[in-house]
Amino acid sequence: ASGYTLLRDPHHNKGLAFTEKERDAHYLRGLLPPAIVTQELQEKKLMHNLRQYQVPLQRYMAMMDLQERNERLFYKLLIDNVEELLPVVYTPTVGEACQKYGCIFRHPQGLYISLKEKGKILEVLKNWPQKSIQVIVVTDGERILGLGDLGCQGMGIPVGKLALYTALGGVRPSACLPITIDVGTNNEALLKDDFYIGLRQRRATGQEYADLLQEFMTAVKQNYGEKVLVQFEDFANHNAFELLAKYRKTHLVFNDDIQGTASVVLAGVVAALKLVSGTLAEHTFLFLGAGEAGTGIAELIALEMSKQTKSPIEETRKKIWLVDSKGLIVSSRKESLQHFKKPWAHEHEPVKTLLDAVKAIKPTVLIGSSGVGQTFTKDVVEAMASFNEKPVILALSNPTSQSECTAEQAYTWTKGRAIFASGSPFDPVEYDGKIFVPGQANNAYIFPGFGLGVVISGAIHVHDDMLLAASEALAQQVTAENYEKGLIYPPFSNIRKISAHIAANVAAKAYELGLASRLPRPENLVKYAESCMYTPIYRNYR
Ligand code: NAP
Ligand code: MN
Repeated sequence: ASGYTLLRDPHHNKGLAFTEKERDAHYLRGLLPPAIVTQELQEKKLMHNLRQYQVPLQRYMAMMDLQERNERLFYKLLIDNVEELLPVVYTPTVGEACQKYGCIFRHPQGLYISLKEKGKILEVLKNWPQKSIQVIVVTDGERILGLGDLGCQGMGIPVGKLALYTALGGVRPSACLPITIDVGTNNEALLKDDFYIGLRQRRATGQEYADLLQEFMTAVKQNYGEKVLVQFEDFANHNAFELLAKYRKTHLVFNDDIQGTASVVLAGVVAALKLVSGTLAEHTFLFLGAGEAGTGIAELIALEMSKQTKSPIEETRKKIWLVDSKGLIVSSRKESLQHFKKPWAHEHEPVKTLLDAVKAIKPTVLIGSSGVGQTFTKDVVEAMASFNEKPVILALSNPTSQSECTAEQAYTWTKGRAIFASGSPFDPVEYDGKIFVPGQANNAYIFPGFGLGVVISGAIHVHDDMLLAASEALAQQVTAENYEKGLIYPPFSNIRKISAHIAANVAAKAYELGLASRLPRPENLVKYAESCMYTPIYRNYR
């Protein structure tokens, strides 16, 4: 092969790190300046350059360029600087990138399947250069983060999520496939935007939508077999619930917004119980927000309670209450409720506001998942502190501006008694001479390790018990030293180790349930998971 091709192949390119021998053997002489540098020095230079950019989107574009130029260096950089670079390749910066995706678009990065490809989806899949795919992340762009309908420009999300699958979970980059399904957009601004890259039509719905997704799911299984994990990401909530219910029996599917969120929040709750007394079933939960996140978390908590107490889930659900935009979900509203809310319609008189619901239900754990900021007011938080020694308060709405309250408010209004974590990161807070470090309930704790566990066990279905296994493994990674600071999540700097533990626990559960197809079962699953993880160190080309 010619050296020139090698330099332009991101899977093999090492830039100035090609050795003398490699330069001789692969026709690279003269195509590179004489200096030979290490991967470490390349990293140092890139971090130096990235930090020069003041605008986050410029950092994002620099990272995407690197991914297209030198894949191993991209992942090495991301792994070694995970706390600094996660917000660049993922939220919040990826959100802005999606909003401006048409404008910054340079390289396709994934597969685009639009209504134009109807009837030809299998052929489209065959156009992708990599044949052996283990994880697909797919969006239809209708609810990108908290930013709404971004149509085809949602592609930034599957690309970003899969970068984390590799960096945090060690799934090989060549086994990852980002896909955007374009059925149009209802975003008027994008439809009028000259630089928009998607179909210029309003969203297809109903049968037309269902048919395209059905063709897609069938083609995926036909082309990659039954062991390819399909992660649904950022679908609008009605489609998200429906697609998960429809395909969970026939395909290996996972919805991060519903199931991944549930698993990461359950882990935080389980960890919080070490700081607050009582078993899970002895606690009472109140949610503000009964959508994908809220009902997904509620269901997984109820399931874990029912396992622990050996009582039916119909009973344990009664410990959990949800408030939506119309007030507390109660039985008198049952007829008019969406189906995913019905299990939560308990006997109670109607209650309109969150404050009144808090006073009526007296929850020990308060969880915000409505997407609306500043809803945990001083009154609400003080009410929580009035009947709880250590109120657990999780403000999950993203981005930071939508957080139900800030970390500082939570600690101040409870006089330092709150156990607090949030969806978006907050800096540590000093209160009364003590430093409190708020945890971040970031989905990136769970899905990479969860996906790795599914892949290494060859699981053919996702079972809810595998989500519980992931939560359990994450909660176990919180150390005494973390608890000391009020943290209910471990620091991200250890994420590869955390992911290996999650993967091992998920895989163990898949074997136990008879859902694993990779036989025989490896003896030590943590070691096995670690041995399967992709590392981005340069290889020597002889
Ligand atoms: P969703 O499916 O659209 O659900 C939103 C829910 O909030 C709905 O039940 C809605 O009520 C309710 N709601 C909206 N405005 C309200 C108000 N003013 N008062 C009371 N309830 C209100 O959204 P989602 O996917 O669940 O996401 C919700 C939020 O959670 C987002 O901000 C997201 O960023 C965050 N989230 C965080 C994490 C994390 O921390 N790891 C993970 C996932 C999501 P109706 O049903 O009556 O319309
Ligand atoms: Mn999402």
